[in-house]
Amino acid sequence: MTYQPPLRDLALALKAAGFERLSAAYPEADAATVAAVLEGAGAFAAEVVAPLNRPGDLAGATYANGVVTAAPGYADALRQFAQGGWNSLSAEPDHGGQGLPKALEIAVFEMFNAASLAFGLCPILTQGAIEAIAAHGTARQKALYLPRMVSGEWTGTMNLTEPQAGSDLAALTTRAEPDGEGGWRLTGQKIFITWGDHDAADNIVHLVLARTPNAPAGVKGISLFLAPKRLLDDNGEPGPANDLRPAGIEHKLGIHASPTCVMAFEGARAELVGVEGQGLAHMFTMMNAARLQVGTQGVAIAERAYQQALAFSHERKQSRSAWTGESPAPLWDLPDVRRTLMLIKAKTAAARGVCLATAVAADLARHGDVEAKLREELLTPIAKGWSTDVGVWAASEALQVHGGMGFVEETGAAQHYRDCRILPIYEGTNGIQAIDLIGRKLTLADGSAFAGLIGDMRQTAAALDGDLHLVGVRLGEAVTTMETAGAWLAERRGTPDALAGATAFLRLCGETVGGWMLARQAQLDARMTPLAALYAGQVLSGVPGQAAAVTQGAGPLEAFEG
Ligand SMILES: Cc1cc2nc3c(=O)[nH]c(=O)nc-3n(C[C@H](O)[C@H](O)[C@H](O)COP(=O)(O)OP(=O)(O)OC[C@H]3O[C@@H](n4cnc5c(N)ncnc54)[C@H](O)[C@@H]3O)c2cc1C
Repeated sequence: MTYQPPLRDLALALKAAGFERLSAAYPEADAATVAAVLEGAGAFAAEVVAPLNRPGDLAGATYANGVVTAAPGYADALRQFAQGGWNSLSAEPDHGGQGLPKALEIAVFEMFNAASLAFGLCPILTQGAIEAIAAHGTARQKALYLPRMVSGEWTGTMNLTEPQAGSDLAALTTRAEPDGEGGWRLTGQKIFITWGDHDAADNIVHLVLARTPNAPAGVKGISLFLAPKRLLDDNGEPGPANDLRPAGIEHKLGIHASPTCVMAFEGARAELVGVEGQGLAHMFTMMNAARLQVGTQGVAIAERAYQQALAFSHERKQSRSAWTGESPAPLWDLPDVRRTLMLIKAKTAAARGVCLATAVAADLARHGDVEAKLREELLTPIAKGWSTDVGVWAASEALQVHGGMGFVEETGAAQHYRDCRILPIYEGTNGIQAIDLIGRKLTLADGSAFAGLIGDMRQTAAALDGDLHLVGVRLGEAVTTMETAGAWLAERRGTPDALAGATAFLRLCGETVGGWMLARQAQLDARMTPLAALYAGQVLSGVPGQAAAVTQGAGPLEAFEG
């Protein structure tokens, strides 16, 4: 089934997430520009990228004789993507970017990812690398690398993970040694490096975490380095190969068209980025950008899976309709199937709202709004964690709508399910997001970031009336539950009791903040009112009951013998 860009839903979700607050900082992002960008990106996603998704799944990226080759059509599509200017939307004009809001870029990237998650990953990593170099690189590094990365001629990677160092990056052992000429040499092995090598760009800029000699143990000993695949000559053009290579690619459950590489650094020439010993903090610039993008991948797959299940529900006839008496009736006319579809649509809209609200906050923060910076930080683990859980849930429910045909590969429902299963794992597992939420974000600025979010949501809940009155009641109850559960966790910060409740709290927050965003969409467009009503009845009504899961404590875990 082809992909239909949800242009109307995206425009509405942007508005409900507060896009108009960006008008002062981004005067060029007016309604006409936003509509044109969404439309152009939607056409590229649907016409160029989406047709590659299924063949890319079947053929995958390949590795032979030390060379990684992108799946059929992907290299060409990535070059077209760069030529179309899609890589440079939100990058700074100083580096050749278009200086448009991140929020618009996130909306656009939902469509590229819905067309193919494996495709979207390549520019996601490049953009994260751009942000890290822009924030921490020297003037020379920015001048040499950023214009070609912003244009999309060169791609970027993020090299953190090692066999013994996954969630716990303090354990990484890749070494960086001074080369005696002001540069560094990197030695070690990285695993699971997304688009670590390929034939779709003239150069690849690797950002690598490594330890310098005599560095202290733990995260304080980690520094950030830049190592290009091909060293630059005096004119800044790609020259001889650096001493690094792909040692293989992984065979995975899904996203087969994304080459996930083992990278061997064999004395690779590298430059320090930022301050020695601050590598992990610098890398967080990249990881936070990527976390929001991965949350958006969750929304993307939910939308794609929904469209496919909706189409199938109109084609497949089975059983008697409870409404019309028709037999056999299309699945669409069976109340339980329609509820399933509608709940997917509602949660997708809610998660889309969470991601776009995070992006709007990031844009305001980029222009010096301190409160918005706190909001961005608070929402990022919720956007990543909850939206990816919604993506996996939605892909599973959409597969269920297909019955047995969902489990066989021909319909494509199975591919969405396989592809999206990585989303709760990479860019910090959702367990790690939950710990970040309760450990750092809940108490950010003495808890004022959390209190501000609670206050804004409460204001919306109180203003919901007419057809949305009951939505307001349910949202208000959920907000109070979130506030109370948050206070319980904050009092127990760092204890096993708090850590045991972290994942339940992330879910509770996602459902509540998502409900807030969906309610705002319904305030602006009556088309969303039935979705908000269903969400209030099926999701928000359950939030107060989740408080017990947050506050249960670690007692049962400690008593469990395995
Ligand atoms: C397809 C793919 C692409 C990837 N792309 C990249 C990339 O481009 N660059 C890169 O550097 N890495 C990449 N990764 C690696 C990815 O980020 C890691 O797999 C992920 O961070 C988890 O690390 P791990 O696999 O070692 O799991 P582990 O850290 O061993 O975790 C196993 C389980 O334990 C839980 N856990 C671990 N520590 C804690 C804790 N303190 N508290 C609670 N629970 C915990 C986790 O949540 C998880 O459920 C990729 C991985 C895959 C599969």
